[in-house]
Amino acid sequence: MSISTVINCLKQNKDYFCHPIFTSYYKMIVCKTRLEIESEVNRCRALNQTVGFVPTMGALHEGHISLVEKSKTECDITVVSIFVNPIQFNNPNDLTSYPRTLENDLKLLEDVLTDIVFVPDVNEMYPEGIVVKEHYDFGLLESVMEGEHRPGHFNGVAVVVKRLFDLVNPNKAFFGLKDFQQLAVISSLVKQLNLPIEIVPCDIVREEDGLAMSSRNVRLTSEQRISAVEISQTLFKAQVLAKAYSIEELKSFVIEKINTVPLLQIEYFDIVDSINLQSVSSWDESKEIIGCIAVNVGEVRLIDNILFL
Ligand code: AMP
Repeated sequence: MSISTVINCLKQNKDYFCHPIFTSYYKMIVCKTRLEIESEVNRCRALNQTVGFVPTMGALHEGHISLVEKSKTECDITVVSIFVNPIQFNNPNDLTSYPRTLENDLKLLEDVLTDIVFVPDVNEMYPEGIVVKEHYDFGLLESVMEGEHRPGHFNGVAVVVKRLFDLVNPNKAFFGLKDFQQLAVISSLVKQLNLPIEIVPCDIVREEDGLAMSSRNVRLTSEQRISAVEISQTLFKAQVLAKAYSIEELKSFVIEKINTVPLLQIEYFDIVDSINLQSVSSWDESKEIIGCIAVNVGEVRLIDNILFL
């Protein structure tokens, strides 16, 4: 067994690792520049260590941490990036009000023994300015739901993820099923460019009452937070009703239910094939069918989804 494997085993057993004998071995590395992250990752590669990557926009919560923990069980080294990517925001207010909690984020990442954190600034990721030339084509995948309601969003996501992949050069990258369409787009990016990276989908982590965890939840007022729980609760009810209702009936059920809740404004709810994300009109049209929803709660836009079949 190599030294690095022993250290990794110890890292995964937090209590053991917290023993004073071992704490001196652990130090989370924080990189701010492309040069720094490349040299840290190259050092790991030279030791034949596998690299897991978790890209985030910060304001971390248990959902993000679950991705980090999964990466730690599957890879020798886990790299997390924190970067609020300006080019994926189609609403300037959403960008300026996006929560930024770097100090707390670093503490949370240290608590789960993250190896490397990459915290670039905008110039580091977009040295040529934020007018980007790359254009990716995701076809029908980006013509619906988030793609339809947030023009340019997925190109912005793809640009930053590709640039991060180039720097981190991971064996595996971990993405949450909460952003179901994003996961489909990133899987398509990896396939189109033939990148040697395994995309690992990770389950949605929810609050105790069912609300999907999101960095944006901290922006909800207490009244909005009470209303917001109805998003997931309605999806759970729809899941129970799915078999007995037609697709059209189920769509109407969800839309009408959400529209009766004060402070919630539905942007879309669609029932789609989980591979191509196109609407289905009957339950036998696909092997796997999911419901995807976007709801505005005041100024805060939340998304969620549920597997029906
Ligand atoms: P974000 O910081 O919102 O860009 O999210 C970074 C990653 O965390 C993405 O892959 C998200 O899908 C994932 N993520 C966000 N919220 C959750 C959640 N509640 N459960 C699981 N994964 C999540």
